[in-house]
Amino acid sequence: MSELKSESKHMHWSEWLAQRVISEKKEPYVISGGMTTSGPSHLGTLCEFLFPSVIRDAIRKHGKDCKYYFVADILDAFDSVPLAMEKYHSVLEPHLGKPLCVVPDPTGQSKSFGDHYLDEARSLMTKFNVHPQIIRINEYYESGKFDDWAKFYLENEAQTRSIVEETSGKAEKKDWSPIQPICQQCGKIATTRVTSHTIDAYAYSCDRDVKYTKGCGYVGQNKISDHKYKLVWRLHWPAWKQIFGTSIEGAGIDHHTKGGSEDTCCHITKDLMKKEYHIPYRYGFILFQGKKYSKSKGIGMGVSDMVKLLPIEVIKYMLVRPDLEENIDIDPNSENLLKTIEDFEASAKLDPSKLDSMNRSDQKKAIAFGISADNKTAWKVGFLDFLLYYQLYRNWDEVAKYTGDPQGAAYLRPYVEEWIARDFQPEDYKFKYAPNPSEMVKKFVSTLNSSMDGLAIHNAVYDFAKANGIEGRAMFIDIYRSLIAKDKGPRAGKLIAALGVDRLKKDLGI
Ligand SMILES: [Zn+2]
Repeated sequence: MSELKSESKHMHWSEWLAQRVISEKKEPYVISGGMTTSGPSHLGTLCEFLFPSVIRDAIRKHGKDCKYYFVADILDAFDSVPLAMEKYHSVLEPHLGKPLCVVPDPTGQSKSFGDHYLDEARSLMTKFNVHPQIIRINEYYESGKFDDWAKFYLENEAQTRSIVEETSGKAEKKDWSPIQPICQQCGKIATTRVTSHTIDAYAYSCDRDVKYTKGCGYVGQNKISDHKYKLVWRLHWPAWKQIFGTSIEGAGIDHHTKGGSEDTCCHITKDLMKKEYHIPYRYGFILFQGKKYSKSKGIGMGVSDMVKLLPIEVIKYMLVRPDLEENIDIDPNSENLLKTIEDFEASAKLDPSKLDSMNRSDQKKAIAFGISADNKTAWKVGFLDFLLYYQLYRNWDEVAKYTGDPQGAAYLRPYVEEWIARDFQPEDYKFKYAPNPSEMVKKFVSTLNSSMDGLAIHNAVYDFAKANGIEGRAMFIDIYRSLIAKDKGPRAGKLIAALGVDRLKKDLGI
């Protein structure tokens, strides 16, 4: 896959992929992608639709158009009840093995179970400003768009099968077929097998045991034109690329390993269909504390939680900054999320016109900031400062006034409030202002004046401690105990400056 690596160190992966599309493919350009919506969206899901969108934007910056199709694979079998739906287990269980698009949504919100999670993904796409044409793939099957490919595979079954076996590295069962019938009696797709076929019709038995469900025993037949089937994944994938006219499509590294479906897709396209292959690209895993995210097991903070804690552009920044094939390991504790916000804030200060003079790390930051935030930031003062000022004043008008950034305050308000409501602040920022000063702290504060900033106050603490024969560290502890009833806290100079020297004097009765 070395040809997929970036040649230019200045270039974001979306840009070098866009350049490949423009130089190697003919218009109209099409990027496609897809996923099975069988559980709640997580950060990995987000990349599935975010990355193609970023590549499309890069193509558009060259003045070219690019269509973006996003496949919702809701004809796939419903194979497990996700943790998030555990309370509906008894309602859902009888539907195991059926296509996701016919399983009812137990919450009653969406057309089907598969649509429930598709609708969730759809609203996330809107939040992230991602606008693909979403294809409910069952509609494509129902309207016959896959029929010609189904007949093609049936007609060339022996060769199809041998490509699948060679590329996957494993022998298929005797009754392997390109087609997965949907049982007319029980409606399941997971439990059927084709027993004989012609080019455009097939007989099947619904008698497979797939551990999580069993077939009903029905024996029947159908024509391809009845549209009661789906192609198996390794054949479905290359077929959709022909149907959409895909120029470029990516997949996770799991599809790109030896024996993965990318290899099958490539050989089916070139050797069997005799078609030109699209540009493939692969991306790393999004890991949660070193583990793969899992829809069904509920591992990992859901995106719906993440968007309450971080502005959209910060999440986007976090996902597009790393190299494409790098695994992104996210441990969403407060320190790490704060680091991400501060990193984003630092990237806003880089001048994107001076990439040449930056080191590689700053280049990546500056480019990622351009992609995720369009080189604009909605706040000027740091997130941590808003957190500090809000802890002190508990009033957004005052926060706006004292930070001097009313727009930033209004923008970050829901996030700051969420951090506090969840007790998600870093340890040093968990406090209540409760003045109860020692005599020494009173004496110290009386030496301050309102023109001093955080740094000047910080230095004054050391000077005062030295002049009074106290250890610096002991003086800081005394200040924290006097103001917030703790031994530690935000930087003392910053804390006092945020409180305001005049207000502090008044509160301490000086
Ligand atoms: Zn059946």
